[in-house]
Amino acid sequence: MDRKDPLKKFRGRFIIPKHKGKNVIYFTGNSLGLQPKTAAKYIQQELTDWAKFGVEGHFKAKNLWYSYHELVAGPLAELSGAKKEEVVAMNQLTSNLHFLFVSFYRPEGKRIKILCEAHAFPSDQYLLESQLKFHGFDPAEALIEVSPRRGEYTIRTEDILSAIEKHKEELALVFIGGVNYYSGQVMDMKTITEAGHQAGALVGFDLAHAIGNICLDLHNWNVDFAAWCSYKYLNSGPGSVGGAFIHTKHHRSELQRFAGWWGHDKNSRFKMEKGFSPIPTAEGWQLSNAPVFSMAIHKAALAVFEEAGISRIIEKSNKLTGYLRFIIDGINNKSNVLEILTPETAGSQLSISVHRQGKEVFRKLISKGIMADWREPNVIRVAPVPLYNSFEDVFRFGEVLLKSFT
Ligand SMILES: *Cc1c(COP(=O)(O)O)cnc(C)c1O
Repeated sequence: MDRKDPLKKFRGRFIIPKHKGKNVIYFTGNSLGLQPKTAAKYIQQELTDWAKFGVEGHFKAKNLWYSYHELVAGPLAELSGAKKEEVVAMNQLTSNLHFLFVSFYRPEGKRIKILCEAHAFPSDQYLLESQLKFHGFDPAEALIEVSPRRGEYTIRTEDILSAIEKHKEELALVFIGGVNYYSGQVMDMKTITEAGHQAGALVGFDLAHAIGNICLDLHNWNVDFAAWCSYKYLNSGPGSVGGAFIHTKHHRSELQRFAGWWGHDKNSRFKMEKGFSPIPTAEGWQLSNAPVFSMAIHKAALAVFEEAGISRIIEKSNKLTGYLRFIIDGINNKSNVLEILTPETAGSQLSISVHRQGKEVFRKLISKGIMADWREPNVIRVAPVPLYNSFEDVFRFGEVLLKSFT
């Protein structure tokens, strides 16, 4: 499979950490993607231009700093299924969500509630709790959390739809993680968006684990807004710049927003006058000028996606994750201690519940140079990433896993 892999050369584009002098098997690209070899060169370009031009780099650098974010909008639109004017790289994920909530969580009268998935990523839970309190509501009443059924690990779409239906008079916003960080479940974003709209609510998604991992079609799904970080599947470095999607239908709306000079009309920005006049695109939600150094890595990382093509990446992802499933099932035939929590429609991640000696098994993996991730109480998350993981990686992982049970 590795020999026939049309994406095999891309593994060589990344720096793989070492363990005892050998490449680790890196299965934590869902937490922090690996460094593209071109990242240093892209940053160096900006350091050089800063040295050469000082402040004039905004208008003289090879990649104008003034409009640096525009350089990544094309590839981000491709990955999110958006129009170019619907996406913008800015800030970071949780901060973007708070800013987007200013526009898209507009409780009114009885319509105050937010619907989300139970056990959302902690930052999202804090976001929701604090937003509700900020508007004077009690999260215990105004937050509707949809859980998996007893004995199940994933949330049924039908249960989300019936919760939307049940609360339709009071629902202001449906806000869900597009891919659940814990179980790896991919949400049916199209269906959820339709149902949310039918109930009279707005619909947004946290795409931290989705972008660069699964097929997204945000514009056609009619999603109102979304945000993501760039350091997971997008390989853009720790804490790197985040991104946001705002559907065209809202670009010229009267929605409230918190404004900053980078969201202001480009033609009059430097007149420095009173009166905010937003750019009528997603860029109108920007506050500050672009963090050029983290954008430089982002640009380097997105160039790899452009070259590989997201549809080929997803095609390989399905095979690679499918192979991992096959390996786990094979081990289970012998030991029966593993349980895959992730449903069949998944991205690169499988979450595996280890019913016996989970922590020991995990330590064994680490000692053999396999980097996976541990979540209490007994879950190992494994993400074979199509851009830099191989079928051999998955096979070797299986060998170590099997030995640790026998
Ligand atoms: C990784 C992740 C975050 C991280 O938020 P930051 O603001 O980038 O630190 C938030 N939400 C979800 C769902 C995540 O997976």
